[in-house]
Amino acid sequence: MSSVKDYSEECGRCLHCARPGCRAACPIGNDIPQFLQAVRAAEWERAADIIGHPFGEVCGYICPHEKQCQGGCVLARRDSAVRMGWVESAFFAAHPYAVRRRSDLAAGYRVAVVGGGVSGLTFAASMYSQGADVTVFERNKLLSTLSMIPSFRLPTEALDRILRQITDKFTIVRQNVDSELLCRLHEQFDMVYLATGTTELYRLNVTGEQYAVSYPHFLNGTCSLEGKSVTVVGGGNTAMDCARYAVRRGASATVVYRRQRQDMPAFDKEIDAAQSEGVKFVCNVTPVALRMEHGKTVVTLAQTVSEGRGKLIVTDNTSELLCDTVVTALGASADGSLTQTATALGISMGGDVAGGKIVATAVADGLKAARTISKSNR
Ligand code: SF4
Repeated sequence: MSSVKDYSEECGRCLHCARPGCRAACPIGNDIPQFLQAVRAAEWERAADIIGHPFGEVCGYICPHEKQCQGGCVLARRDSAVRMGWVESAFFAAHPYAVRRRSDLAAGYRVAVVGGGVSGLTFAASMYSQGADVTVFERNKLLSTLSMIPSFRLPTEALDRILRQITDKFTIVRQNVDSELLCRLHEQFDMVYLATGTTELYRLNVTGEQYAVSYPHFLNGTCSLEGKSVTVVGGGNTAMDCARYAVRRGASATVVYRRQRQDMPAFDKEIDAAQSEGVKFVCNVTPVALRMEHGKTVVTLAQTVSEGRGKLIVTDNTSELLCDTVVTALGASADGSLTQTATALGISMGGDVAGGKIVATAVADGLKAARTISKSNR
């Protein structure tokens, strides 16, 4: 565990630039120099309030800092950017952001938040801090998507710390919200914020699809993988999580991706980590059929060729890959009927349901929606 001395020394490296590139590169617009200065001065509460939401520790662990704050840091030119991600995760592990009443700007307002993920709970925390009564509708458990990230990338305790801050502040309703209920919530509450994430998993759409397991089942599964071979289809962070998780549980893992490796949507650091842990990559191929043979899954892979404008040609040139388990990690889309209803009613949306892809944009959306609503209430 990092000591306060360690990360306060790191804070001391900040040059407090007049035009901080770190801040400009942060999707949330965090006032990073001020945060670093407050941490260094041991002003814990001020530091947490500068960040201003409960997900600082999570951002510290899973943001692509090399592309955001650290990539924008003036010291990155000398390859020695201030390690904001590390400071953030270490600091908030020791000093979680306190969700509490801070003003009465939204006092008396009843707010419904649909979706208990990062964006929904950021919005909820911000509205609560401004005096609103907050009800969160979540069919699953809170932070269910984050909880699927393996603990080697995001420690479970980080989520526990956040949940401890919020559970007694909001009314939590365990309920699925469909379009009909969304309309009713729109009538019954003063404000509704839709942040249901992406719930419709993309499918392979090939013969034998039933022999593959989807990433939520795989990551939540408990069956032994010792000595097994796992093929992961996809190129995002979740695909890297599945492959690294398989390796950690004693399996060999191969990631199969339809384009070139540099086209993978996963963060570079996640791809590098997977490779250094022994994950193999087979690129420019796509599964066109799955079948079972002598207890193994046979994946027929067709070679792909990229043409201009992102077009992909699937050729007749095929090969076969034998493995014990095929995992699909192809991403997901939002529930179209919910987003259509929200758009028609003028309901605010944020996070993945609104096209966001990373935790920082989910936080930024939640804070922005809360600011907009609070302003309109003044
Ligand atoms: S760009 Fe780097 S050195 Fe400058 S204020 Fe931000 S963290 Fe500090």
